[in-house]
Amino acid sequence: MPIEKTKAIVLKSQKLGETSKIITLYSDDFGKIKVVAKGARSLKSRFMGSLEDINYISVVFYYKENRDLHLINQADIIEPFKQIKSDLVKYALASLACEMMIRSQIEGHPNKSLFKLLLNYLYELCTVSEQSEIYFFWFQLNFLINNGFKPKIDKCLHCSKSYSLDETYYFSYARGGYVCQECDAEDITKLEISGRSLKFLSELDDLNYIKSLSEPVPSNIVRETSLVLYRLMQYHVSGLERLSSLEFLRNVWSY
Ligand SMILES: [Zn+2]
Repeated sequence: MPIEKTKAIVLKSQKLGETSKIITLYSDDFGKIKVVAKGARSLKSRFMGSLEDINYISVVFYYKENRDLHLINQADIIEPFKQIKSDLVKYALASLACEMMIRSQIEGHPNKSLFKLLLNYLYELCTVSEQSEIYFFWFQLNFLINNGFKPKIDKCLHCSKSYSLDETYYFSYARGGYVCQECDAEDITKLEISGRSLKFLSELDDLNYIKSLSEPVPSNIVRETSLVLYRLMQYHVSGLERLSSLEFLRNVWSY
């Protein structure tokens, strides 16, 4: 039973028996893994607060090949993301990303760029002061790209004409692109989307673009972007057909 060390983000913890916990981690070297933390719920536990949700930790564990559960030996906090945990909206947005990882990723399949994306997202959420949901959109779009699905936003799927900012189009989330109203084909998955939202979506994967925004993103663009990304994720990423916490948040924000 080899002993392994890696860095990981705590996605979720569940009670196990009287005193222990099962922790779901997304790790740099092993992807999603589940570990048992014996005695983690007792007051004298050596794990202390290190296994709280959304902590970034360094972890040592006994790796059991072909097994679902591994045994954790040591966990040290690298970053507790306190600014996320003290803000309800940020906490909800971070939890959503964790839920996406839990539902969509297969255990034991490392994906270093996805690990880096999640970690960067958490660090960014800590520092952002307004419209933190825009950073969730950035995470969602890059998550889609990482999972092999990049929307085509530069031209109409039918006539290849570029969009103009003041027109309205239809976005087909099944086909991952937009069509002009004249090209409107029978496509039950279309959503109305403005040229300005298409422009926003086309830049959204770039963190520098988001950081360069000097004014709040208008609410209609936020609403359209939110819906398009949500539908793309539901349609194209296995395991994300239904995200109850996202539906709840979208209702709260009336997106
Ligand atoms: Zn067209």
